Amino acid sequence: MKLYNTLSGKKEEFIPIVPGEVKMYICGPTVYNLIHVGNARPMIIFDVLRRYFTYKGYKVTFVQNFTDVDDKIIRRANEEGASSDEIARKYIEEYFKDADGLGVLRADVHPKATENIGEIIDMVKKLIDKGYAYVSGGDVYFRTNAFKNYGALSRQPLDELEAGARVEVSEAKESPVDFALWKASKPGEPAWPSPWGEGRPGWHIECSAMSNRYLGKTIDIHCGGQDLIFPHHENEIAQSECANGSKFVNYWLHNGFLSIDNKKMSKSLGNFFTVRDAAQAYGYEAIRFFMLSASYRSPLNYSAESLEQSAAALERLYTTKGNLEFLMNNGADGDMREAEKARLGELAAYKKAFEEAMDDDMNTADALSAVFEMVREINTAVANDPTKAFAGACLEKLSELTGVLGLLYGKKEESLDERVRQLIEERQAARKARNFSEADRIRDELKSMGVILEDTPQGVKWRKA
Ligand code: AMP
Ligand code: ZN
Repeated sequence: MKLYNTLSGKKEEFIPIVPGEVKMYICGPTVYNLIHVGNARPMIIFDVLRRYFTYKGYKVTFVQNFTDVDDKIIRRANEEGASSDEIARKYIEEYFKDADGLGVLRADVHPKATENIGEIIDMVKKLIDKGYAYVSGGDVYFRTNAFKNYGALSRQPLDELEAGARVEVSEAKESPVDFALWKASKPGEPAWPSPWGEGRPGWHIECSAMSNRYLGKTIDIHCGGQDLIFPHHENEIAQSECANGSKFVNYWLHNGFLSIDNKKMSKSLGNFFTVRDAAQAYGYEAIRFFMLSASYRSPLNYSAESLEQSAAALERLYTTKGNLEFLMNNGADGDMREAEKARLGELAAYKKAFEEAMDDDMNTADALSAVFEMVREINTAVANDPTKAFAGACLEKLSELTGVLGLLYGKKEESLDERVRQLIEERQAARKARNFSEADRIRDELKSMGVILEDTPQGVKWRKA
């Protein structure tokens, strides 16, 4: 399998450190807010990469952290009159609701910064002892000049970075490019005792410390969005390689931005939709499908049309799945026919096309095309009174591929439209059965959801009150 490595700027053949095993770390969210659709892109993309490795027979260890101490969390806590711990806990819970909805598998470990303060302090100490870091007031800074490879990942020579950073010269730092490993805490902020006084970790050090603790000094893959290349990942490399004296990561993978009107979707610009709202409108799974419709490194533009198209395409997959499930119960009895066996064999070509696409730096767009070609083939193959066995075998072939993409997991009910349509159908059935009290009950339930029904000659219409 070939993967595009940001470090070399090339597609490289993936060779794991330990044959048959993959160690992956993905930078997780800072938990102070509901996640937006842009944040969902790395979650979904790297979930698919993990699933694909598993499909290929690798044993994958997948770690994703939570940044649960940070300026933004502290600010939010002050606004809400809560502790930062309460804010972090609340938004971790909300994160999992969305991640589960999107069909993103839980990591093997979800470490939190606040539960790894000891590891973080040990790493900072090591960096000071080796001359890579210095204490200034109650802060500790990384001495960027001491690491000759600084800037390699983002391809920016240190002198250029220094020239660019001059504006924010600080008395506390030896060089403007130096960054905080440990920050003295201000009154009222969360704080932990350390050899340098009460304080809290800088942002970058947590990933170095947790990757080290849960996966070891050198790992196979580290991933996240492109905005993390500099400074976050550059700083992680500096910290880990200087503390450990060994290579940190073999393959650096970064997804492109999700944009809206061609501007990166971000909290700070305010041009975002939360995953929660988008899921209400289109369903969680349509969001997942949409993310897979483009190669992960390309920019991807969010729009109502593209989400609607994704929902419609997903519906086609569900129709085939539903049809196959029906045929598994209602098809012809007996063994699979010879002609059916031959047809089944032909499906191998789509599986091969799917794997070729995925092996080429995880081209999910082409992989999805292969799935749809397989669907077309299956639809014609089961058109004429198939056996139950053949329908079942076709569904198995299809599910093998959709399972890698994490599709067809059936969490569609989050969308209001779906739920309303379902209730309207139930109400019609109740009326047909002359069960008017049930029909009225359903009408009231819809009313409590803010939905008004109108019986028209064209059937039942509904609108939001
Ligand atoms: P943050 O909470 O801002 O640190 O972001 C969490 C993850 O989402 C990181 O991997 C970011 O790179 C990624 N991310 C944030 N915004 C976008 C976007 N518009 N498109 C793609 N990835 C994004
Ligand atoms: Zn990180």
